[in-house]
Amino acid sequence: ESFLARLRRTEPHLRSFLHVSDAVLTQARDLDDKLRRNEEVGPLAGVLVAVKDNICTAEMPSTAGSRVLEGYTPPYDATAVRKIKELGGIVVGKTNLDEFGMGSTTEGSAFQVTANPWDTTRVPGGSSGGSAAAVSARQSMVSLGSDTGGSVRQPASFCGVVGLKPTYGRVSRFGLMAYASSLDVIGCFGTSVADAGILLHAISGHDRLDATSSKREVPDLASQFVSISLLQSKPLKGLKIGLIRETLDDGVDIGVTSAIRTAALHLEELGCSVTEVSLPSFSLGLPAYYVIASSESSSNLSRYDGLRYGNQVAADELNSQYMDSRAKGFGSEVKRRILTGTYALSAGYYDAYYKRAQQVRTIIRKSFKAALDEHDILISPAAPSAAYKIGEKKNDPLAMYAGDIMTVNVNLAGLPALVLPCGYAEGGSAGLPVGLQMIGAAFDEEKLLGVGHIFE
Ligand code: GLN
Repeated sequence: ESFLARLRRTEPHLRSFLHVSDAVLTQARDLDDKLRRNEEVGPLAGVLVAVKDNICTAEMPSTAGSRVLEGYTPPYDATAVRKIKELGGIVVGKTNLDEFGMGSTTEGSAFQVTANPWDTTRVPGGSSGGSAAAVSARQSMVSLGSDTGGSVRQPASFCGVVGLKPTYGRVSRFGLMAYASSLDVIGCFGTSVADAGILLHAISGHDRLDATSSKREVPDLASQFVSISLLQSKPLKGLKIGLIRETLDDGVDIGVTSAIRTAALHLEELGCSVTEVSLPSFSLGLPAYYVIASSESSSNLSRYDGLRYGNQVAADELNSQYMDSRAKGFGSEVKRRILTGTYALSAGYYDAYYKRAQQVRTIIRKSFKAALDEHDILISPAAPSAAYKIGEKKNDPLAMYAGDIMTVNVNLAGLPALVLPCGYAEGGSAGLPVGLQMIGAAFDEEKLLGVGHIFE
């Protein structure tokens, strides 16, 4: 009740949700009755989970922030949602996002702009801005987002919460509306590392409905938080941390760099050795990412043809029905991506763009692997700045893309990364939260969570 009351009070100012469930209290009371009767309830009993609106929910609309899917309610739950429900979790509602996850501010939603709870004149980040704002303002205990190029980590940084992007393949993508399938993952938000880890544990594991989900066993990510001793003076003794040199270059706000350097000192106090490590291919991540993500999206979004799902624009003739539905259904950023991707994949340009981007991706993957062979964890900022003003980058897509520099490489390499608050910005964004990104080896979420828990 207290969460719902806060949600109602804050929502007019924040606009984090596209849909709020009307069954939350009934579900909570049912669980309460079960407990009173000493019946078994799952480990997530009563935990409120907000779900990004590009993740399918059977009883609630799922629009991906697009007019093309306005009024669409899927006939099934995404695997991650099904697991949460089976463990007793309660879906509070569906959160706002940049249309189909394409954007970094949540201004790209066809329906509303979400505000940052720290300063409502600023963006919450994106594309999972609604999920980050909902947890930051305690409208929900935890939430699910999706991360194709940073969409969990950058909004976590902007909203001062914990964001966890798992290894590609750790969590089933079944029911996550595809943006760029080789990069997309479902991730978790919480107000603590433990909360994010417990939620990740709940949704992880192989799923026969997603051929790219891994068969690797999922370690017990949830119970390690009680076993770590916080009383030792150097609990992280012997841990090798690499601070990625290229992420502290010019172009990164001074307040961000100083918060990250202070975080590095804190890690040293905890017993880690922190050294700078150079990843020369780092700046290639952005162009490679935008070619690959746009190319895959141009293929994935061809399913929204005005016939199969959502909104249909009536027309006398099939081709006009396709064209009118898309022209009216998609926003400008989505159209830009589809056009860019179609161009990059076309016969004459495939080798010059798509193939080349894939080659760069291999170089990036190898350089991260080499750095992680030498270090337990790599660290960097989660974004080059703190949250900026609503409207500031809206008409400058390249400036917005440039803000993804800290996060896209991790998706290209398929690695897990944890973002957690580590300080506050200075100057014009004084007092706004800054997030530290910790990047781990593939499938080593356990180490990230353990270190993150001690750090916070
Ligand atoms: N901002 C990036 C993009 O627009 C990342 C988005 C995401 O991770 N979904 O593609």
